[in-house]
Amino acid sequence: MIQYKDNHITIFQSALYQTNSVIIETDKLVLVIDPTWLPNEVNTIQNYVYKNKKHKDVYLLFTHSDFDHILGYGAFSHVKVIASQKLKDNPDKQSIINSIKDFDDSYYLTREYEIKFPNVDISISKEYEELEIGDIKFYFYQAPGHTEDGIITVIEPFGIVIAGDYLSNVEFPYIYHSSDDYLTTLKKFESIIKEYDINILIPGHGEFTNDNTEMKKRISESIDYILQVKQLLLEDKQEETYDLIKKYNYPKAMKKFHDYNLTLFKKELAL
Ligand SMILES: [Zn+2]
Repeated sequence: MIQYKDNHITIFQSALYQTNSVIIETDKLVLVIDPTWLPNEVNTIQNYVYKNKKHKDVYLLFTHSDFDHILGYGAFSHVKVIASQKLKDNPDKQSIINSIKDFDDSYYLTREYEIKFPNVDISISKEYEELEIGDIKFYFYQAPGHTEDGIITVIEPFGIVIAGDYLSNVEFPYIYHSSDDYLTTLKKFESIIKEYDINILIPGHGEFTNDNTEMKKRISESIDYILQVKQLLLEDKQEETYDLIKKYNYPKAMKKFHDYNLTLFKKELAL
């Protein structure tokens, strides 16, 4: 399940939805990002962390509150947690926990740890925040759109962008919160890519990329999807919007997410 490894970064990719869990190791700390999915996958990540941490401090970072991204929290519950203030204050914690339990029940899964909503120690509330922990410097940006409580994290000195559920090469934008906010967040990625020397962009699902042109392509494809779907809806051409998701590998399974988007767009456009 290790999709990528270098001196500082290890990406574990789940068999489910190509979901990425990331571990960043420096001389001083181990940072674990969205450790997830199947019980044995979370165990593998947990064992990896505890085998390699030695004297180092361990931190957990959550990109947003979707249940698939926080379900591994209980396996690391004694470490410090970084997430947005909005995630900390999420009003739907119980329903997110219920989604994890429903998922586990439906596949007869048992876990060796307790399912809990993350207890956030370091919360990111400003539009932009910097934070230094040990030998890592974090640059955080609020990233609402997909959900309300997402953050983008730039990690230096490695030039890593942790994108959360944006800029996937396997999914079109899944918009649960707001398409305007989603577009604003995409603009932030544009300026981040210009402003920093980015070596690697890691999305929540799908393939990471080291290629600046590919990063820009993913941004513009996301923008195009949103603008084109909205335009077609305004022209009363809903059926044609389905053509826009045909190019993805799993269009049948993804149709329901496109349908959620259509419902949200229509509400936003007052159609
Ligand atoms: Zn996700």
